[in-house]
Amino acid sequence: MNFNELGLDEALVSAIEATGYTEPTQVQVSAIPAAIAGGDLLVSSQTGSGKTAAFTLPCLNRLLGHKPAPGAGPRMLVLTPTRELAQQVEKAVKTYGRKLRWLNTACLVGGEPFFAQAKQLSRPVDVIVATPGRLIDHLQRRKLKLNDIQMLVLDEADRMLDMGFSEDIETIVAATPANRQTLLFSATLDGVVGKLAQKLTRDPQRIEILATKASSANIEQRVMIADNLGHKNRLLESLLGSEGLQQAVVFTATKRSAEEVSLSLREKGFSAAALHGDMHQTARNRTLDKLRQGRIGVLVATDVAARGIDVAGISHVINFDPPRAAEDYVHRIGRTGRAGREGIAITLSGPREIGMIRAIERYTGKPITVHVIEGLEPSARPPAAGRRPSPGGKPGGFGGGRSRDRDARPGASKGWNSDGPRGARHTSDSERGPRRARADFR
Ligand code: ADP
Ligand code: MG
Repeated sequence: MNFNELGLDEALVSAIEATGYTEPTQVQVSAIPAAIAGGDLLVSSQTGSGKTAAFTLPCLNRLLGHKPAPGAGPRMLVLTPTRELAQQVEKAVKTYGRKLRWLNTACLVGGEPFFAQAKQLSRPVDVIVATPGRLIDHLQRRKLKLNDIQMLVLDEADRMLDMGFSEDIETIVAATPANRQTLLFSATLDGVVGKLAQKLTRDPQRIEILATKASSANIEQRVMIADNLGHKNRLLESLLGSEGLQQAVVFTATKRSAEEVSLSLREKGFSAAALHGDMHQTARNRTLDKLRQGRIGVLVATDVAARGIDVAGISHVINFDPPRAAEDYVHRIGRTGRAGREGIAITLSGPREIGMIRAIERYTGKPITVHVIEGLEPSARPPAAGRRPSPGGKPGGFGGGRSRDRDARPGASKGWNSDGPRGARHTSDSERGPRRARADFR
């Protein structure tokens, strides 16, 4: 299948070819013609599968067909959960729309000066990419009208709801015309997302690319057992020195821990930087730019801040703390192995956090193999699984991995202190929870 078979204007096809894409991904093949046909869509497909182009291309295609009336407001609106994602999507819109010389875009996110954005809105804008909080600010201060919106895109709708943006989304959507086309993208289309979708779309077509199970085929997944925080730090250091590592994202459970790990890595001579929701937006942008330019080798980030980051040089994802949910795991490891490249994802797990790893294996349907680094072997082995270790102790899924080569040392896991994910899980540092997250990303 070629891009020119999808019904897209030549200007878009040639921009895509200039980007270096040779053929559309599965979700693009399904969603682009369906969106061009004009109906509402509910789309779910795995992270890294090219959803941005799947919604941007048909929307630009529609913009291209009709000249706006003089003085008309923006015609396309994309809502995203985080600032970084909004900026990335705006960049994609510019890239895919590079042949459309008249195209004006604006990115409205918190943490950037309000008045500069307001000034931008005083001139004609075709496409707005925004986080819900800041968009509402502009609506309330009458800097923006959404009466001319023809296409509304909700990117990562599930995450926006997780972050407590549900009311904001409804307020925003109420300000758009009822005859708009709505494209909703989400990891899942059930539960609360399904309810939201019912409210916001009319007779939508569902497109589910059920690749989640077999996904991340190009990402090798490993787990390493760490006895305690000190051991974890030594493992991390060793992993970051491994051959073939280009750039890495290290995930921590809390903002404070992201700061601490990044500081300690810098002290050890790594070009590391932290990324989390408490940082000033200018600093966040600068960090991401440096990462893209390869001037940062290791990004130490929290889940929310790293959502959707797309940097080709990321060869490794290291979960310094295991994620809280299996779904977060899939998003984390999706930071590597972008666009078909190979990637390695390593989760450092305390002996007592194995349950989470097993839950992830059940979710993805893929075994996560246990690895050890010579000289840094754990003294504790994971508590016995429901399954008995296979006699050969062959590496494989967790249950059957590392058989009884060593007995668990009593008290071996006591090394966890409040910096470990368990203790920190409920501190105010956590980015989870609607109120907190909302304050971060307005
Ligand atoms: P998602 O939103 O599904 O997580 P993205 O839209 O961020 O994925 O795309 C992931 C990466 O794949 C990006 O680097 C993008 O440039 C690249 N990409 C998208 N479509 C194609 C394609 N058809 N061929 C090759 N690379 C692509
Ligand atoms: Mg995306």
